[in-house]
Amino acid sequence: MDTKVWIVDKYVDKLENNPQVVDAAHFLRENEVVALPTETVYGLGGNAESDEAVAKIFMAKGRPSDNPLIIHIADKQQLTRFVKEVPEKAERLMDKFWPGPLTIIFKKKHGILSEKATAGLDTVAVRLPDHPVALALLQACQLPIAAPSANSSGKPSPTNAGHVLDDLNGKISGVLDGGPTGVGVESTVIDCTESIPVILRPGGVTKEQIEAVIGEVQLDPALLDEASKPKSPGMKYKHYAPDAPLYLVNGSKVFLQELVEEKQRDGLRVGILTTKENRSEYNAALVLACGKRSELETVATALYDTLRAFNQEKVDIIFSEMFPNTGVGHAIMNRLQKAAGNRIINE
Ligand code: AMP
Ligand code: MG
Repeated sequence: MDTKVWIVDKYVDKLENNPQVVDAAHFLRENEVVALPTETVYGLGGNAESDEAVAKIFMAKGRPSDNPLIIHIADKQQLTRFVKEVPEKAERLMDKFWPGPLTIIFKKKHGILSEKATAGLDTVAVRLPDHPVALALLQACQLPIAAPSANSSGKPSPTNAGHVLDDLNGKISGVLDGGPTGVGVESTVIDCTESIPVILRPGGVTKEQIEAVIGEVQLDPALLDEASKPKSPGMKYKHYAPDAPLYLVNGSKVFLQELVEEKQRDGLRVGILTTKENRSEYNAALVLACGKRSELETVATALYDTLRAFNQEKVDIIFSEMFPNTGVGHAIMNRLQKAAGNRIINE
């Protein structure tokens, strides 16, 4: 299949009437799948009410069928169609963080959405994204859109249209290219079906920000302890992995450089993931600065592009610095640990 590329300027007014957006919306209404920019990462969208469209999403990504999709809407009113009840805490979270990188799990009404989209669960994950192109597309097609990240399953999520094409060219109807995304890591997923809501996946909105609005929330124990079974089916899978094995290094810069030299003596091409502050302190075949450590948001924004860049340069092994586990650092460390398959070297 030919994958169309629709280039869209996200700063233009009335994007829902933009011919590129209207064309992409037409494909969605025909139950085809198209990739779209959001403020977190690029999503692969399809009509959430159509088994046919949802099957195409799973097929293009090679995604395990027990991993449910996030449903994207343009307007809170759309919730009533497929959500059973909106708890008061969820209402407050929506008022504060929508549009934005927060996905909320609700009890679902049966018989509206494709069962494949929700993996047959009694709940549904919903988000209202904060990106003009995503919102325009959702308005133009007037459908709830199921959209997981637009990468091949297991690869780092795409943060620009080039990443989407690297993985899915020829497998999807098109990609709306609205430029690079901003946040860089996926949405936070919070289960609001419990009286004390539970964070299932750390992401663009931090635990601290959420607690400032609704008080105490819990973390899914699986986020802290590898042995627990995650409540979010997708969290059990290895994810975000670059081609070469990645090791997180819990130690000094000198220690990390020693690890590099040991591997170089074995004849390996070594990559290092660091930040602007520390870049010049290392010596290796490929030293990449992933944002600035003093502004963790910039690390989140650059993370997946950096992981993908190691593939381009064909390194044999990658060592990465670690980041503080607070604020958006929580999401960064969660993704890095998965990308590393939890391989951590302590000094
Ligand atoms: P992705 O779309 O690739 O960013 O992944 C979506 C994440 O949301 C995965 O970790 C899913 O398992 C999770 N998710 C989607 N729907 C539900 C649900 N009803 N209950 C719990 N987790 C969900
Ligand atoms: Mg994903």
